Amino acid sequence: MKLIATIIALLFSIPFINAQNFADYFTNKSLRVDYIFTGSASNQAISLDELSQLPSWAGRKQHLAQLPLEGNGQITMRDLKSKECIYKTSFSSLFQEWLSTEEAKTTPKGFENTFILPYPLHSVEIEITLLDTHHNITASMTHIVDPSDILIKEKGLSHITPHKYIIKSGDEQECIDIAILAEGYSLSEMDLFYQDAETACESLFSHEPFKTMKGRFNVVAVASPSADSGVSAPKLKQWRNTAFQSHFDTFYSDRYLTTNRLKAIHDALAGIPYEHIIILANTDQYGGGGIYNAFTLTTAHHKMFRPVVVHEFGHSFGGLADEYFYDEDVMNDTYPLNVEPWEPNISTRINLSSKWEDMLKQKTSIPTPVSEKVKYPIGVYEGGGYSAKGIYRPAYDCRMRTNEYANFCPVCQRALQRIIEFYTE
Ligand SMILES: [Zn+2]
Repeated sequence: MKLIATIIALLFSIPFINAQNFADYFTNKSLRVDYIFTGSASNQAISLDELSQLPSWAGRKQHLAQLPLEGNGQITMRDLKSKECIYKTSFSSLFQEWLSTEEAKTTPKGFENTFILPYPLHSVEIEITLLDTHHNITASMTHIVDPSDILIKEKGLSHITPHKYIIKSGDEQECIDIAILAEGYSLSEMDLFYQDAETACESLFSHEPFKTMKGRFNVVAVASPSADSGVSAPKLKQWRNTAFQSHFDTFYSDRYLTTNRLKAIHDALAGIPYEHIIILANTDQYGGGGIYNAFTLTTAHHKMFRPVVVHEFGHSFGGLADEYFYDEDVMNDTYPLNVEPWEPNISTRINLSSKWEDMLKQKTSIPTPVSEKVKYPIGVYEGGGYSAKGIYRPAYDCRMRTNEYANFCPVCQRALQRIIEFYTE
């Protein structure tokens, strides 16, 4: 009898272990945490910059203590008293990409990083951790946040940036909220920006699985004005005063358009419910970048705008890896060959079963020869993640490989579908 009672007690306790009730731990507001990641290739550290409160929470209310993906960094929020994990999220950062540059070997630098967390009811401990490509911790920092701290700045109650909804499928509580921001558009160019935001949206929702799952998204275009028109192109000696100070030639790579001014981006969004960020740059120069759970930034007036904005959003929203590579790339330390990368659409075959092995037709040759690409829309094709050897991709072509191909491959589609479900179910 005692045993039966124990089993019944255990059965009843299981849902409470897995599913925490949002309202038990959080209020319907957001805690914005600004950090500075500093250091060089040999030594990194994280410092807290600023805390602020935003008027609503647009993020998920389920899977609170689970990670969407592993990421290159993680944040864990624990109830201070019980030490129970009450929220988790993951991200990647420009700082971590910069660590592999020549400059990082000699010169320590600092990078802004901002995260939006649910606003806790009681004091919490927040742990933030950076991981290297071997999944080892390279920097970690823990701090306590008392939600009644008078120095937590209230933002987003006034001076809200003008904005328009392009898609409004439902309440911010139920839907995934994408904000599209303007970079390098002067006040008089905002009609052009709204048109460009519509184009980005049209392109995104012409791709599966976004097309079928459109009803789970809200998209808002946010008219953040710049003093100058256009964006900075250092190689052309063109510097512009823009809302987010973005520029081409990031790490001296022509097409890499990024910004380190994360606080300015989030300031422009204060008071508007948002979870995922797309920034459109008012230029016809080719380029862009997408960083997982940070932002997509892309040029709006190049002829490849439509595919590129979706490709970059594949990185920033879905944590997808680049499936492209160059034939001459054989030695590349972006993805070490003795570790399975966390990105869902590439594999070193160290642990293919954690990836798309279940989607392969019986008798698929591994590696799959390119000559069989028609027979095997899903295979294990060698080349991906910037390396021609040792890294494998799931399909011959994909939105994550070329601008010419029209779709995400089936494996990327499934990965995106899973993440949409994670945020909305
Ligand atoms: Zn793919």
